[in-house]
Amino acid sequence: MITRQDIVAAIRSLGVQPGDLLIAHSSYRSFNPGDASDRVEGGPAAVAEALIDAVSPGGSVFVPTYNYGNDVWDPATSPSYDGVITEHFRKLPGAVRSLHPTHALAGVGPDAASILANHDKVQHVGEGSPLWKLWQRDAWVLLIGVSHEANSVAHVAEELLAMPYLDRRRTAHVARPGGAAEEVILRRPGCSDSWAAVLDPRLRAAGAVREAMVGQSRFLLMRSTAVVAATIELLKNDPAALLCHRCDCDACNSARALLRRSGG
Ligand SMILES: [Zn+2]
Repeated sequence: MITRQDIVAAIRSLGVQPGDLLIAHSSYRSFNPGDASDRVEGGPAAVAEALIDAVSPGGSVFVPTYNYGNDVWDPATSPSYDGVITEHFRKLPGAVRSLHPTHALAGVGPDAASILANHDKVQHVGEGSPLWKLWQRDAWVLLIGVSHEANSVAHVAEELLAMPYLDRRRTAHVARPGGAAEEVILRRPGCSDSWAAVLDPRLRAAGAVREAMVGQSRFLLMRSTAVVAATIELLKNDPAALLCHRCDCDACNSARALLRRSGG
């Protein structure tokens, strides 16, 4: 069975060092899709701890704990919809969670509080958001058994280029003291279903992806700056590069309509 130490060793072998900043997206199932009882000793909590071990001492780890507007947002109780590893991670001692009502991140480490601060005051991946700050500091991105569909930092490229489809709106609900739920209007996030097909070859061609297997889970490590740079190139070639081709995808269909409108 895979151990916490195996995971730390794999992450370190890819180049992560104590003191580094790390964004991790994960699938616990990927360690052994066929046998839920034979994945990692200690379960998803051990994976969450291993992420922190890999950058300790001195480093900080961040994971998505998005609720996607599924629940009335309460940072203490709203579950993460980004997998069981992230759900354990957000409950670790010392974990901090940002306050964005649909796309909060959780962090552990000396930089967690400053990176996660004020997320309720900015767009979810806009200037001043946690992923924006992590990109500015060239944080690592680690994909554990998931591909670039999960690679949220690529949205920073859309923000930098002020893509015409960004300013779509949705409503979400935030818990307020006394039990009331307040309706808030937020940007509607884009779809990332097609990102692996376009981003993976681009990043590999740039030599930006390091890879290791841990059990049956494929770990991919890259710099967030490489992800954003590759995405900018894709969008400059084709403003619709990040949009999927599912005919029933409302997000991508409305984004295409906005691109057509902005193109005259
Ligand atoms: Zn789509």
